[in-house]
Amino acid sequence: MRRKLVAGNWKMNKTFQEAEELFDELADSLKNGQEQSDVEVVVCPPSVYLEMAHDLGSDEEDETQVFFSVGAQNVNEHASGAYTGEISAPMLASMGVEYCIVGHSERRRYYGETDSLVASKVESLLQCGISPIVCIGETLEEREAGKQFETVERQLKNGLFHLQPLDFVRLVIAYEPVWAIGTGKTATPAQAQEIHAHIRNVIQEQYGKAVAATIPLLYGGSCNARTAPELFAQADIDGGLIGGASLQAEEFLKIVNSFD
Ligand code: PEP
Repeated sequence: MRRKLVAGNWKMNKTFQEAEELFDELADSLKNGQEQSDVEVVVCPPSVYLEMAHDLGSDEEDETQVFFSVGAQNVNEHASGAYTGEISAPMLASMGVEYCIVGHSERRRYYGETDSLVASKVESLLQCGISPIVCIGETLEEREAGKQFETVERQLKNGLFHLQPLDFVRLVIAYEPVWAIGTGKTATPAQAQEIHAHIRNVIQEQYGKAVAATIPLLYGGSCNARTAPELFAQADIDGGLIGGASLQAEEFLKIVNSFD
């Protein structure tokens, strides 16, 4: 059986006080077991709040009691050195960060993150035991030209196919059609399932059935509490990467509870 996972990408939102409030709300609810217990919840706040997320996301007296896992939104591909303003995988690991988003379309578009940079970042994270959440997905032009399958296949091959089969144990892939991110336009469950199945097939061709059958594939792109249940019910969709709808505890937790 595959892991079910819902990750919240806060992007560049929330002040310190607002972040603290949201972490508390999430932790309180998850602590009380109000959500489905077989779903792993990951919160990816801005990096300045990672330590607070780690502190508030687990039991003060017993750190093994984790209410939500902590993820970063970005990492530098180098381990250390003269890279002003950057944060490395060893630093994230030393703070208890377990996940990191890589290749988000906003980073590809605004910060020139290419497939080969994605490949280096993934490598660096895996060396530190951090699970990369690798984002792939086509633009509107690519979809209109019928190139969605080709695009995700290229991103997969160039970003991930240098890895060994065992590396896939830690990997999470998020299919995020660029035209659906922050636009309010969710992919239909059928559109999302079709690409997820394709991603799984491409992985199976390269790495075999066992690897393809166990890797969690998330959907992302204007997913909310209304659309999540049908999306999560699809055979190859194992959860979601949630942007806007992760900024409010009630909405986000409803999404966490959207599995059958
Ligand atoms: C995202 O940024 O990963 C995302 C899915 O955003 P939104 O849910 O706001 O479309």
